[in-house]
Amino acid sequence: MIGTRYFGIVDQGTNIVEVRPTSLCPLNCIFCSVAAGPLERRRWADFIADREELAEALRAVAKLKGPGLEVHIDGMGEPAVYPELVELVSDIRGIKEVEAISMQTRLFMLSEEKIRELAEAGLDRINLSLDALEPALAKRLAGASYYDPARAAALAEFAVRNTRMDVLVSPVWLPGLNDGELPKIAKWAVEAGLGKRWPPVLIQKYLPHKRGRRPDGVRPVEWPEFWRWLRRLEKELGIRLDWRGENPFRVERRPAVPKPHRAGERVKARVIARGVFKGEYLAVPLKLSGDPLLDRSITVTSDKRLREGDEVVARIIEDEDNVYIARAELVFPQSA
Ligand code: SF4
Repeated sequence: MIGTRYFGIVDQGTNIVEVRPTSLCPLNCIFCSVAAGPLERRRWADFIADREELAEALRAVAKLKGPGLEVHIDGMGEPAVYPELVELVSDIRGIKEVEAISMQTRLFMLSEEKIRELAEAGLDRINLSLDALEPALAKRLAGASYYDPARAAALAEFAVRNTRMDVLVSPVWLPGLNDGELPKIAKWAVEAGLGKRWPPVLIQKYLPHKRGRRPDGVRPVEWPEFWRWLRRLEKELGIRLDWRGENPFRVERRPAVPKPHRAGERVKARVIARGVFKGEYLAVPLKLSGDPLLDRSITVTSDKRLREGDEVVARIIEDEDNVYIARAELVFPQSA
């Protein structure tokens, strides 16, 4: 459950632990940094994590990190489509080191009933991804005619008014595409009562990613321009948007999970599945300890087609945040 970006746990050495239950997503956002969604042709597999294994690994990570944790449910897809979402939240709530549970979502696919269940299971905050309120533009940005921003907004209002949960809205500013929508979203958030315990609005800067989609008509800006624009908007609206210098999410350094492999090292591993993107495979080292804190999954890239069961000698080329990318150097095909 540790070692891949596809699913599981990603730890960046703080008290915020990211849990990724699935890489599936029903939308096709034209700026998606992880190129998710049913129309993406560069992907050839998706994952739904085993809930019990995920919870077991999280318990081990939480024990290592100590109290005061926030578990943030996110991933290379839309976590709200995870089939056992309420149960997962409930499992996380049962971990004594966890203080807060949050989830990034587009929300429109949930119902009022599901929101109540999530609140009762222990979800504390929804980070609502909403980049436009104007329906035609929102559908265009989401790459899906069935996306409904009004429904997402109505469900967010329901959550803050009828449950103990908070909602913060986190639109991505796509300069040239949704400039006029951000003031509307910020005003709506404040008027609707978002931000009961955390900031109501957190505008994200669009960052083009190697694997992500890059929409036409967007002019990526550098950080200084982003902050200048944000300060101007803040003044114009009278709504706090720039939270630098404060720590509203109470992020602090914590022990990172141990790194059993390092970039440059070679590992012998067995292919267990395709990876998310074409040319990628999911593999596990031949020697496993059975301890979720020590065992890693590894993303192996290969020009040659690999099959489940093939063994490889792979050289690790990336090890950041305990996420391992390796290049297959030798392949021992499974016997037919
Ligand atoms: S940005 Fe989020 S909602 Fe949109 S396609 Fe990507 S994962 Fe799905």
